[in-house]
Amino acid sequence: MKKISIKIGLLFFCLIFMMEVCLFFLLHQKIAHSRIAEELSALVTRGNNHRDVLETYYNDETIHHIALMEVKSDTEVVITNNQGEIIISSTDINNQMHQLIKTEKKEMSRNGKIIENNWQDKPYIAAVTPFETDIDSGFVYMFKDTRQVKELMQQLNRHFLIAGIATAIVTAFIILILSRIIARPLIKMKEATKKLSKGKFSIQLENSSNDELGELADSIQSLANELNHLKTERNEFLASISHELRTPLTYIKGYADVAKKDHISMTDRVNYLNIITEEVTKLTTLVTELMELAQLDNNTFTIQKQWFPICDSLKKISTTILPSFQESGITLRMICPENYQILADPIRFEQILINLLDNARKYSPRGTITTVKVKKENADIKISIQDEGKGIPSKDLPFIFERFYRIDKSRSRELGGTGLGLSIVKELVDAHHWKIEIASEINKGSTITITAR
Ligand code: ADP
Repeated sequence: MKKISIKIGLLFFCLIFMMEVCLFFLLHQKIAHSRIAEELSALVTRGNNHRDVLETYYNDETIHHIALMEVKSDTEVVITNNQGEIIISSTDINNQMHQLIKTEKKEMSRNGKIIENNWQDKPYIAAVTPFETDIDSGFVYMFKDTRQVKELMQQLNRHFLIAGIATAIVTAFIILILSRIIARPLIKMKEATKKLSKGKFSIQLENSSNDELGELADSIQSLANELNHLKTERNEFLASISHELRTPLTYIKGYADVAKKDHISMTDRVNYLNIITEEVTKLTTLVTELMELAQLDNNTFTIQKQWFPICDSLKKISTTILPSFQESGITLRMICPENYQILADPIRFEQILINLLDNARKYSPRGTITTVKVKKENADIKISIQDEGKGIPSKDLPFIFERFYRIDKSRSRELGGTGLGLSIVKELVDAHHWKIEIASEINKGSTITITAR
């Protein structure tokens, strides 16, 4: 039994069916008891009526008349005197009747009583009412054949059976529909996850409910969207990598082929070999940065945070990077008013700053100034790198941290850029749980601010 709808349906059916059986049983008992009680009370009432007639007109004719009345009805009457001698009866007296008549009647109320109510085992149910006149006194016995009562009960049972079967069929039908309605979204989700496991991420799960099933459908849908997005990203990334690798490799192959030729001068050969070395250096940088990103993606690197004075670290960075700034004719300024302590991984912090400063240098013209400023705002330390370079168009700003995203590809390549620097910076900033923002204006410059806390 694999189908969830069948499982849910059967479970509900068993529960509801059991409830229905209990209710039907209770109802049946109630109706049966009240029907029997009615029959018994009718018997007593009939006996009481005969008593009233006897007490008013006690004579032979009245007695015969009462017996005659009962012959024509479905009840029987036996009238006895106080000694138990039978004055008249509407039928032949059988054993059960004899026994009941013989039983001593003590403290009997004028309104009579039931003397036999066992309709299941005895042939008659019975009631007795005492009568008293000036001439004689005695008892009026009323009997009713239990076959009629049993027939009545059988009829009641038949009605209950029909009603029970009809209710069970209707219940089963309703439950079948309901269980299908409940199971349908589950089945759809199962099919969707099956597709996901086979790598088909373009699924569309419509969600029409706000309950837990709806939430589950939403979760599966967002998982599928995420996987789809990752798949597209991975494909784009792979395409970008192969493109990025192919370009320097084409140069290397081209220049190596030319350098091999006999007729070229020594100077040209050295030139070509220099180009090959440059391209190999670029490839090495690219591969190193890709490895770095792969590590960041897999979380296989660890951030080892420690407190250190920020100005001291900036001085060290500036010493490393200053020669390249001087060569590019750009002034590097550091504004670090107080040697605040910062909690960071010192090596990664240096990597972030060097990447950003290198961009500022690469994309700024000679004669400009790049300023690194540190300030404290409440509990945060803000480090900004401001350049007077060519700036970043606002349409490109949202994508600037994406891998291989470059505004001017050939210019970036020329300057030794890989298009991975800012992605690495972003990953490192995120790993520190910091924030990074870029503000930029074309031909005026860019300011990148890191908020560390
Ligand atoms: P790249 O290796 O090409 O510099 P990055 O990821 O570091 O790659 O930067 C992505 C792109 O963002 C660069 O190609 C460049 O076009 C632009 N960019 C980054 N920093 C600056 C900056 N300070 N000024 C102008 N453009 C910048």
